[in-house]
Amino acid sequence: MAFTLSGNDACQATLPTPIPNPYWVAFSPSSAKLVGIDLDENHLPVDKTWLEVLSGNGLNTANHQFPNPMATAYSGHQFGVWAGQLGDGRAILLGDIASQELQLKGAGITRFSRMGDGRAVLRSSIREFLCSESMHALGIPTTRALSIVGSDMPVRRETLETAAVCARLAPSFIRVGHFEHYASLQNHARLKELADYLIEIHYPESLQTDEPYLELFKRICARNANLVAQWQAVGFCHGVLNSDNISVLGLTIDYGPFGFLDQFQIDHICNHSDQGGRYAYHRQPQIMHWNMACLASAMIPLLELRHGEKEAQDLLRSALEEFPNTYARAWQSLFRNKLGFSTEQDRDVALIERLLQAMHDSKVDFTNFFRNLGKLKSKLPISQISLRDDFIDRDAIDLWFVDYLARLQSESSNDSERHLAMNRVNPKYILRNHLAQFAIEQAQKKDFSEVSKLLKILSNPFDDQPEFASYSLAPPPDMDMVEVSCSS
Ligand code: AMP
Ligand code: MG
Repeated sequence: MAFTLSGNDACQATLPTPIPNPYWVAFSPSSAKLVGIDLDENHLPVDKTWLEVLSGNGLNTANHQFPNPMATAYSGHQFGVWAGQLGDGRAILLGDIASQELQLKGAGITRFSRMGDGRAVLRSSIREFLCSESMHALGIPTTRALSIVGSDMPVRRETLETAAVCARLAPSFIRVGHFEHYASLQNHARLKELADYLIEIHYPESLQTDEPYLELFKRICARNANLVAQWQAVGFCHGVLNSDNISVLGLTIDYGPFGFLDQFQIDHICNHSDQGGRYAYHRQPQIMHWNMACLASAMIPLLELRHGEKEAQDLLRSALEEFPNTYARAWQSLFRNKLGFSTEQDRDVALIERLLQAMHDSKVDFTNFFRNLGKLKSKLPISQISLRDDFIDRDAIDLWFVDYLARLQSESSNDSERHLAMNRVNPKYILRNHLAQFAIEQAQKKDFSEVSKLLKILSNPFDDQPEFASYSLAPPPDMDMVEVSCSS
């Protein structure tokens, strides 16, 4: 059930603006299944009216399934600075389908479009579509993508591109920015309605404590701490972790200039507009913590009624202080699994950090290193471990391997069992920028087969899929570490 408030000017009835001659670019069978849409042998909806609905064209007459499309207001901090009101400038919420909310991104101008054109280009829609579905298959909480509908309608960015509409799904699209919006307007009644709605529908466990709002805050923090740990463990950089791009369900949301690490560079910046590196890979955990502090501030009025201002602040502050601990526990557990450990030992953190430092120093491919580490035969002499050839400082990595093998020995690790377990957590296939780029270039020539192919490969990222092995390779030297434009 979408969060709608009658008479609430933050939820504006908004119809999508039609696009000329829409055509299918992509459809996700897995998302279709989630919401009960039947597909034909071409993996497109049997019911042809979906093209009209998901292009935004079919909603101008009374549509019985989605009678109340709307855009919502939210506010937020962008690059650490209060930006005031933002809102759904190009995303229109159609309504609910099978306990998901359905949103069309790029569906035209809304009350909140400010200077924007309300559109999204094919390039960025393909990136969002593929990454959403890839993240889901990696087991990382995310908004889902159902479809992309294209049109030859020109859209101006740095160059002239064409328009697309990406249909997204989520149990809720509510962001930290929605809380900040009502808090900044000092509209405490709406703030309370928003929190009550979230508790009722998405966090009912909060009602089992005598502090439901504080519990809600703790749970949102915990979900986002776990989320960012999962990003770190697959080398995902979001690129624009503004508070309006942070989901209160702990979902990855708003795919823009994101990037997966190819070579491991701890301070990698994927967004070329992020000159100061605020959203660099290694800063993501502390930035998420910062965003949770924004949420805490916005939630003070909810606790104030009962506790007074000072105590409300103290309660939220101490809940916020749990964030680094929750994050560290999640991160350690994920990296232990990546290294194939089935027990916890005190020395593990130092071992993980030494490895990451060595990988950074030698710019080792993040995904392939962990995937290949699973194949390690623990009886092999160190000098014969081929992975050591990826490192410039052989002495340092040899010492690391000595300690790693000793660590495995200490829990009597079995090579084949460990290999299987590591393959379940270390993906072979991620959405590398050069792969997305190739699919985009084909699609811009009206060949959408590469998008479907990538979707298929990335839907099973932990399977070997030997026929697609070339999709697991690091990018060719001229394509590595592509920085991506914010314009989308
Ligand atoms: P983003 O950086 O994509 O999360 O967007 C930040 C804000 O700008 C959000 O309020 C978006 O809705 C809005 N926005 C981004 N691109 C456009 C566009 N082309 N037209 C209208 N609003 C946009
Ligand atoms: Mg956004």
